[in-house]
Amino acid sequence: MNIFAIILQRQKKLIVIFLLTIVLPSAILSVFGIMAIRNEKYRRDQQILNEQQQAVMLLKNQFSAQLKNAEALLQGTAQLPAFQNREYKLIQQQSNVSLSGNLPVDQVFILFEDGGSFFPLLQSVPDVLDYSDPVLTDSQQELLVRAWEAEFTDTDYESAGSLYEELVNQTTAYHAKAQMLNHLARVQKKSGRIVTAIRTYQRIIESYPSSLTSGRLPLPLTAEIQIIDCEQISGRKSQALESALSLYEKILGSHWNLSENQYLMYTEMVEQIIQELLDESLVNDSSGEQYDTYRVLREVHQKRVEQWKDRKLIESEIIPVLETMVLRSEYQPFHFSREIQGKDFLITVVPLSDLLCVKWDNDGLIHEWLGPIINNLLLDEQFNIMITDLSGEILLGDEGPEGDANSVTGEFDGYFPPWKIEMVRTSLTQSGIHLYESYYFWSILILLMILVFGTLLIIRTLAHEREVMAMKSEFVSSVSHELKTPLTSIRALTERLLEGKVKGHDKLHQYYSVIDQDANRLTRLVKNILDFSKMEAGKKEYRFESTDIAVWLNKTIDDFRKDHIHDHIEINKHFDPEIPSVAIDRDALAQCLYNLMDNAIKFSPKSRSVDIDLKRESEWVVIRVKDQGIGIPKEDLDRIFDKFYQGSSSIQDSVKGTGLGLALVRHTVEAHKGRIEVQSVPGKGSTFTLFIPIVHPNL
Ligand code: ADP
Repeated sequence: MNIFAIILQRQKKLIVIFLLTIVLPSAILSVFGIMAIRNEKYRRDQQILNEQQQAVMLLKNQFSAQLKNAEALLQGTAQLPAFQNREYKLIQQQSNVSLSGNLPVDQVFILFEDGGSFFPLLQSVPDVLDYSDPVLTDSQQELLVRAWEAEFTDTDYESAGSLYEELVNQTTAYHAKAQMLNHLARVQKKSGRIVTAIRTYQRIIESYPSSLTSGRLPLPLTAEIQIIDCEQISGRKSQALESALSLYEKILGSHWNLSENQYLMYTEMVEQIIQELLDESLVNDSSGEQYDTYRVLREVHQKRVEQWKDRKLIESEIIPVLETMVLRSEYQPFHFSREIQGKDFLITVVPLSDLLCVKWDNDGLIHEWLGPIINNLLLDEQFNIMITDLSGEILLGDEGPEGDANSVTGEFDGYFPPWKIEMVRTSLTQSGIHLYESYYFWSILILLMILVFGTLLIIRTLAHEREVMAMKSEFVSSVSHELKTPLTSIRALTERLLEGKVKGHDKLHQYYSVIDQDANRLTRLVKNILDFSKMEAGKKEYRFESTDIAVWLNKTIDDFRKDHIHDHIEINKHFDPEIPSVAIDRDALAQCLYNLMDNAIKFSPKSRSVDIDLKRESEWVVIRVKDQGIGIPKEDLDRIFDKFYQGSSSIQDSVKGTGLGLALVRHTVEAHKGRIEVQSVPGKGSTFTLFIPIVHPNL
């Protein structure tokens, strides 16, 4: 069985205790900790989910509140006298100012109780025309024919002009008078009296704002076009451009009641005029500003074109269903939505006797209402709100990271608008981050660290145990060897003596002296071992006696020499004079010196000379044992004073020893309140220095 298996066998108990008291509880605690972390993660997820739900709820509620406010505004508007009395111009104004100006409204339309509809943002009066043909008397009719002849056949503008003038004076009917003025202005223009013509046209515009041509077109509108033409003819280009822009704005503002086709025709006509004038006046300074005005107006125009298209859809798809809804709504305002040609038509209806309806501007709802609400929710960056329509198209916000499970969806109250609110938590908040914030995480980490630390400690203990065991077995074999050598020698010599083979006084003396030397060596060895065991048991006692160190040291060295009389050693003494007496345990300290000198010789295979210094250094008596031997490697220096420790070189060179010598020296010196130091250069030699206090502190 190898040594490690033996240790395991011996330390079974320790290992079992370690497993039961540290490993098992750590494992159990870790499992609980991991479970706790998972619970905490779940709780946090739940909390975030709640936050998300709350945010969605808040968004819904704020939107609903805004819609309610709008509803109130609509109700208030519907109750205005203008609406009640069907004053179309006023209705148009109100729709433009209080509705379209305050709310994200795209279209306003009124369904009259008695049938028919009115779209005040597109037209100034409903499609019911109160037009009657101009009534001319026979003589007036005759006059008119003569005037035409003069104008178109004879091109006699002079007489045509006076005929038309007469007609103007004679006619009384509103439209007829306006039409005659129009004829008059035309010939004035043809005859080159431009300024007069402009004046006549202006008269039509100011005095007959609602007049119509025989072809049912607004007369003032054609008059305005003529004025622009006149201005162009007379070379007042910038004036013409200004007039054209103002006309364009009037058409867009539904100043006149036009049908969709008329609207398109006139806008196209005016756009063409403006375009030409702009091209011509590129050099002109003011054209930049006018160009900007034109661009803005063109955008309004685009919107109007859309609105005209939507109006048709509203008429065909929305209005028919609306009627049935009103019955059910019991005159409460209500909202509904319908998808027509891929567009969401969001309608709010305020039913009074007539129905005031609003088609919301979807972009306006998104950017003017929802956008600011979302911004005001003050969400963390990790949250991402997205509004999508039924087809899944994103209306607001960005798409969150792919595959994120933590999203909460919600709908608007009453599915109005019929869009989906989606709240996504971005990957930044994946629970990984929270792990480090968890109390349990750190507990487990600390536990694992303790576990690792404990395991290392156990391994260290086992390794140390193993080393001690190895040292002990080494010690036993060293001691046996140390005992065997002198014993073998003694036995061989005594055998020869007993056999009587040794003759002569000198020879006998030599034999006895070798036996004595070996016996002394054995005695010292046994004494070393006994002292060591006493020392280990803490029973070693010292007897201090005041001693003349020089005398004592001399004697010790002499004794040592005697014991090594056959080893041919040379001991050089360097004693300072006047070394004071010091209280020491003579035997114990002598044994120390023996050990040091023994080592000095043992580890000096070439040189047999040892130097011994005795000095006084301030409060200390210093004894130095210096050799020129093999020296001690640096890595051994710290350990040579440990029990059983034998240096690597001594093991390599199989030098005899027990590893007890220096351990004993240190113990003894320390008992004297002194210390031992060593300096050594491998290959050059070593110096051991004993410091003994002159005044023993405890004596
Ligand atoms: P031992 O001499 O019985 O082996 P020691 O405790 O006296 O035990 O010495 C421990 C070790 O210190 C020795 O094995 C040796 O390696 C080293 N050592 C001691 N003294 C000397 C010395 N004078 N020169 C070289 N090495 C020494």
